[in-house]
Amino acid sequence: MLDSIIVGYGLAGFHYAWQLKQQKKDYLLITNQSMGSSRKAAGICNPTVLKRYTMAWEGEKFLEYAIKHYKECGLQLSTNFFHSIPIHRYFFQAAEQNDWIVAAQKKGLSSFLDPLPSHLINSNLKRKEGFGIVNSVGRLDINTLLDIFQKHTIPSSFMEEEFEYESLKILKNKVFYKGIEAKNIVFCEGYRLKTNPWFQYLPLVGSKGESLEIIAPQLSRTQIIKGSLFIAPIKQDLFWVGASFSSKDKETIPTPSGKEWLISRLDNLLNVPYEIRAHHAAIRPTVIDRRPLIGQHPKYPNLFVFNGLGTRGVLMAPLLSKWLYEFIEEGKQIPNEVAIHRFESYFCNPNRKHV
Ligand SMILES: Cc1cc2nc3c(=O)[nH]c(=O)nc-3n(C[C@H](O)[C@H](O)[C@H](O)COP(=O)(O)OP(=O)(O)OC[C@H]3O[C@@H](n4cnc5c(N)ncnc54)[C@H](O)[C@@H]3O)c2cc1C
Repeated sequence: MLDSIIVGYGLAGFHYAWQLKQQKKDYLLITNQSMGSSRKAAGICNPTVLKRYTMAWEGEKFLEYAIKHYKECGLQLSTNFFHSIPIHRYFFQAAEQNDWIVAAQKKGLSSFLDPLPSHLINSNLKRKEGFGIVNSVGRLDINTLLDIFQKHTIPSSFMEEEFEYESLKILKNKVFYKGIEAKNIVFCEGYRLKTNPWFQYLPLVGSKGESLEIIAPQLSRTQIIKGSLFIAPIKQDLFWVGASFSSKDKETIPTPSGKEWLISRLDNLLNVPYEIRAHHAAIRPTVIDRRPLIGQHPKYPNLFVFNGLGTRGVLMAPLLSKWLYEFIEEGKQIPNEVAIHRFESYFCNPNRKHV
């Protein structure tokens, strides 16, 4: 009998499989070919909230674990997936420099924000009002990590197909799926949780993001640029640009208006020529209270969920996967802020309108 069946192979599915593999547990990953949001993300790992100059919830704790963890992934899989690279936050007006100086003295933020803004002119950009530097952050090459881990996994642990909910048989101490027996099943489906018959009661909102891939040979690769958009180096002359944010549109199709929105911001920011290579869209699995969703189904104890990574999957998924593993295998408590039991009233009252 397997220890777990994992449904979905994005950041959540990968990280839970990683936890199991480290403990020599047996698992089967079932995932469809569709991309989800992990493979469309920029991969930025940043514990600060630059819009409001605050720290993300438990940002330092998540970052410390994530960095160690990605280093370990790199060692075991013989590839460097995590690139330490600063974020340069460009100001709209010179007056914002004062806000930066104040923010850089705040507890938590002071470990990341350079105390003084820089007045250097970046000739690749139209902004001339200075910038602040965010240190100790970086970018995860998510696609390479997912591809390489899959290659290192024995083929019988990977099933590429749509999971059929009606084929799952839930027994007292195990589950059966198409002749496969496992102690439990962990759903890591991103926004597709909305169609999961057992966990769709959870208040996943979903926020669509559109992004571009551009070729810009003259653009520097030594920092992530943050203006009204992020511009992150991917490889050679290729850069990720994004993203829009919409809680209304829930289709994963890139739109002409989304592209126009991105291009107009890019043209206001860049001073160098570029060529668009690709235009993507995906739904971030955001939650009504902006916290992840991990835990056990209130009625079926063999069913678990790992979701709600929102806009910070790279930062949070490593430690969250450890918490979930320790909960399932060792009976440790999950912190209340991320445990799904905070939404038990939604389960008892499925008609409650929340999104
Ligand atoms: C434009 C954009 C930019 C982003 N940038 C960043 C960033 O820079 N940094 C960051 O930390 N986060 C970023 N994010 C957020 C990040 O993508 C998410 O936090 C994270 O990737 C979610 O991972 P997940 O595994 O929960 O879901 P997903 O990545 O969506 O993975 C779920 C997978 O499960 C599969 N699946 C679902 N249901 C089934 C089923 N029934 N049967 C079979 N397979 C199934 C899906 O097809 C998918 O492959 C960004 C998101 C977007 C949209």
